[in-house]
Amino acid sequence: MNLILLGPPGSGKGTQSKRLEDKYKVVQLSTGEMLRAEVASGSDLGKQAKGIMDAGKFVSDDIIIGMISNRVDQDDCKGGFILDGFPRTVPQAEALSQMLKDKSLKLDHVIELEVDDEAMVERICGRYTCAKCGAGYHDSFQRPEKEGVCDKCGGTEFVRRADDNAETVRARLRVYHEQTAPIAKFYSDLGILKSVDGMADIDIVTRQLASIIG
Ligand code: AMP
Repeated sequence: MNLILLGPPGSGKGTQSKRLEDKYKVVQLSTGEMLRAEVASGSDLGKQAKGIMDAGKFVSDDIIIGMISNRVDQDDCKGGFILDGFPRTVPQAEALSQMLKDKSLKLDHVIELEVDDEAMVERICGRYTCAKCGAGYHDSFQRPEKEGVCDKCGGTEFVRRADDNAETVRARLRVYHEQTAPIAKFYSDLGILKSVDGMADIDIVTRQLASIIG
């Protein structure tokens, strides 16, 4: 099963992808996470990408498309994948269609998480993850049971993304509406777009997604 989750920053694409990974035995492919790994490793690509990401702008389509194409060829993607944060522009969506055709793959679902922009700033600015296992938390909505200790792995170090500050979040939301929102029309014209209410409780959103995926 190959799936795209669409939605603005903070809409829950990452959280829901991780849940669907377990349920459907597919792999989450997050271009943002791939880029953050490049930044952390200090690679040339990472050095190039860091300033762009910190400003909330987009890394070039060529780089992103090459990264996804290589990743999809790896063995763990054979059972299917969830694209999270890609495609983000209409040219990326067009390149994805061509890439899937070349690899004899197809998209089963494109699902949009519908949310209110204003709520996204609070959601994003409060979020953080366990540095050891990546479990997600939030200052207001989801604190660890024991303060400072990860519920999942017992880790005691937590990290926040460099681009999760109010100024960058507003830039990311602006860029989303200018460049990414038109993708919904691209997939709705192809007749494969579905939407769910991304403002609902996390478990309810997961159930809504599962009812579409089947
Ligand atoms: P995300 O983790 O999806 O919020 O992505 C974090 C940042 O990585 C974005 O604000 C962009 O700077 C960059 N990025 C991630 N995916 C893409 C993409 N598909 N195209 C261009 N830039 C991207």
